[in-house]
Amino acid sequence: MAVMVERTKLKSTFSSAINQRADELERIARDILNHPESGYREIRTGKLVADWFRENSFEVQTGVAKTGVVSTLDTGKLGPHIAVMGELDSLIVPGHYHADSETNAAHACGHHAQIGSMLTVAAGLTKAAVTEGLVGKVSFMATPAEEYIELEYRESLLENDEIEFFGGKQELIKLGFFDDIDIAMLTHTGGETAGTLGVGGSNNGMIGKTVQYIGKAAHAGGSPHLGVNALNAAHLGLAAVHAQRETFKDTDTVRVHPIITKGGAAVNSVPADVRIETYVRASNVPAILNTSEKIDRAFRAGALATGAEVRITTNPGYLPSKYNEPLTEIYRHNAGSLIGDDNVIELQHSTGCTDMGDVSQIVPTIQPTANATSGNGHGVDYVVENYDLAVIKAGKAMGMTVIDLLADGGKKGQRIAGAFSAPMTINEYLSRMRAFRSDVTYSE
Ligand SMILES: [Zn+2]
Repeated sequence: MAVMVERTKLKSTFSSAINQRADELERIARDILNHPESGYREIRTGKLVADWFRENSFEVQTGVAKTGVVSTLDTGKLGPHIAVMGELDSLIVPGHYHADSETNAAHACGHHAQIGSMLTVAAGLTKAAVTEGLVGKVSFMATPAEEYIELEYRESLLENDEIEFFGGKQELIKLGFFDDIDIAMLTHTGGETAGTLGVGGSNNGMIGKTVQYIGKAAHAGGSPHLGVNALNAAHLGLAAVHAQRETFKDTDTVRVHPIITKGGAAVNSVPADVRIETYVRASNVPAILNTSEKIDRAFRAGALATGAEVRITTNPGYLPSKYNEPLTEIYRHNAGSLIGDDNVIELQHSTGCTDMGDVSQIVPTIQPTANATSGNGHGVDYVVENYDLAVIKAGKAMGMTVIDLLADGGKKGQRIAGAFSAPMTINEYLSRMRAFRSDVTYSE
């Protein structure tokens, strides 16, 4: 009983510390919204986060995986190490209500609110009266590049040895930041029933491909017979991709959605360099690999028909996610205490992907959603409507969960970490990811 009382007291001290700073925390989220930066370019956003931690007397590591920021709250007592995360990056969505006029970067996935909810946890836990009741450590990780976009830019970072993986959390895993993490969490915004927090669910995994058709330029009007039309090759390749769809099993929830990023140089010259980016997503790794083979075959068909060459570069994407049930139970209870049990909803499988999937393969992980938005995710009209839920309540629910895990000598945290049988070790994870990589040019 004493333990229960102690926890309740810690949570209420934690909560009132946050109430006093709610305006400030929401303001930071809005500031990030108004200054969107896409992955591995989050210079200003990273600095904003680092400055906040410094002002609040935290030690800060900056430039983690290029633009990430990590700050650790150490109780000085032995115990579990929890990662509370937020993503720094925006998308690129021209025409979004809050798009940057030069770069078209836009927070069309609500990541700005994640940083707000992560800082909310930090603001509440830093209160001495709370920290004194806890053991272990909490690392706040502001991670770069969750959105897997601008593949050519990231390939150039890879070539310059600035990064190895296209996802920021993957880089943090590689750099050792998860070596002693026992439990991880992050709250994403969502568009389910307004005012609810979502728990559970799962995500597809994916790999990314860049495809380059190499043809031969010639006068498009005068002598097309002397050229090799790379755009026609790409069209045939895309048609062949679409012809695979009836072979996808519904239970694998496969998604393949190529875009043309370069369609030719000038209208009077036969296109000689045409580029495509695509994902291959599915609910499980065997289905991703099986679909990947079909897609490569399809792209090769376009080259074969026209006599073009095709270079297919495949990069590791994200692993499917599997969120931890015992951890979800603790979170569910805390979320219910804040917004009512009826407003905590069960998430379904999502065909979207996240590098939280990678994290979930190595440590017990949850990624609840704060259903606080309107509009289409990744669309021009996706905006956070309810900052109190997306930033403050989302942060409180995570922080109260951290308190449950680290109070009472960290028993609950230890129990969850101890019962978790990781699908793979970090080393196995890294070799698994590297094995996805290939770069092949087909001449016929
Ligand atoms: Zn997102």
